[in-house]
Amino acid sequence: MKIIVTGGAGFIGSNFVFYMMKKHPDYKIICLDKLTYAGNLSTLKDVMDKPNFRFVKLDICDREGVYKLFEEEHPDVVVNFAAESHVDRSIENPEIFLQTNIIGTSVLMDACRKYGIKRYHQVSTDEVYGDLPLDRPDLFFHEDTPLHTSSPYSSSKASADLLVGAYGRTYGLPVTISRCSNNYGPYQFPEKLIPLMIQRALDDKPLPVYGEGQNVRDWLYVEDHCKAIDLILEKGTVGEVYNIGGHNEMHNIDIVKLICDYLDKPYSLIEHVTDRKGHDQRYAIDPTKIHDELGWLPETMFKDGIKKTIQWYLDNKEWWENIISGDYQNYYQEMYGKK
Ligand code: NAD
Repeated sequence: MKIIVTGGAGFIGSNFVFYMMKKHPDYKIICLDKLTYAGNLSTLKDVMDKPNFRFVKLDICDREGVYKLFEEEHPDVVVNFAAESHVDRSIENPEIFLQTNIIGTSVLMDACRKYGIKRYHQVSTDEVYGDLPLDRPDLFFHEDTPLHTSSPYSSSKASADLLVGAYGRTYGLPVTISRCSNNYGPYQFPEKLIPLMIQRALDDKPLPVYGEGQNVRDWLYVEDHCKAIDLILEKGTVGEVYNIGGHNEMHNIDIVKLICDYLDKPYSLIEHVTDRKGHDQRYAIDPTKIHDELGWLPETMFKDGIKKTIQWYLDNKEWWENIISGDYQNYYQEMYGKK
């Protein structure tokens, strides 16, 4: 089995590469990544020399390059993680989100049509469903919840999901889609909530929290997400969408306080900043379908996963210190007005 994993130098993609290489040592994994600011080759250093791994620096929008790779490798499966993934950046500059997340997805699927494929899997997000009110804890996103997006990021991901469905129906491409809640774990770029707070708390820097921090997210340990995708590839039904969630809803402010507690830092570091434009209130996934049909359940309790994650950032300071130098500093200053 040959699998092209796009975006495999990013957070979830790299964790998926590691998971698959361990679980299926007989598979060949081809990692295709443009290495944007969010992609990091050093993340892949331990697998780089393995005979069943190949890294290709490539933009998924580069049709010629993508076709050439398919011609060389004739993959059986494509799992598309490659995306511009940060909501705040999409609000500042939507265009690259439309390019990569929509056009790039169509280029990959065109290659799948041209060269034949057993499965194209699209990694999507619960953000395509929009948000739920904070005072209705009884409501959840189901696979048939209408797409109702808020940000340019989620709109680009929802557009890609619609295209994937269309390629399935119109061209008979064997597609599946998974929509997952917020992931956390090793190798997450430190612009996202949990690693951002860990690295800033470690340096005793202010911890910027949007508004009152009452927004609710459902958190899933990244390895549980990887397991779910592997199951969908093995046992999922072509043409279906699967929601993946941790049943672990938390207010953003409580996550930040928990990180302070683990690192023994005072809550006085927390600084409430102007809320994100169009900030979604609550995301909550109902993962009943993937549980009932494929037998998937999240295995990592949040209290254990967050401990492992914090410990990973403590043990791998070099990884994130390299990342937050240079360009990232300028971006951070623009977003929050301070270093
Ligand atoms: P990430 O930003 O950490 O990684 C994205 C990767 O894609 C990077 O390695 C980047 O270099 C690569 N990339 C970007 N544009 C590319 C292009 N044009 N061609 C090739 N490679 C390109 O993102 P992530 O958090 O790992 O998310 C991966 C996928 O999972 C995304 O599709 C995202 O929408 C989805 N998702 C993420 C979460 C989450 O909590 N992080 C939750 C649900 C779904």
